[in-house]
Amino acid sequence: MFVRLILILAILYIAYRIGKYIFQLSDEGIQKNRREITGEDLVKDPQCGTYVPKSSSIKATIGGEDHFFCSEDCRNKYREANKNKH
Ligand SMILES: [Zn+2]
Repeated sequence: MFVRLILILAILYIAYRIGKYIFQLSDEGIQKNRREITGEDLVKDPQCGTYVPKSSSIKATIGGEDHFFCSEDCRNKYREANKNKH
């Protein structure tokens, strides 16, 4: 009787561990999907022509228009180039 109780507890523990493992895997899958969705939201850097995720880009309003840049360096260069034109 006691041995059977230990066996049931062991099975429950293993089931718990497997469930937790599967849950972690599905959670990673959700996070990966979310990353792919946000990855699709790309903006073009007008200075170097690179596509950057909007969330990690640098936004600047130049000449009344919103532009997105991959780095502050590109933003500064574009701002300077735009300044010289006008
Ligand atoms: Zn750039």
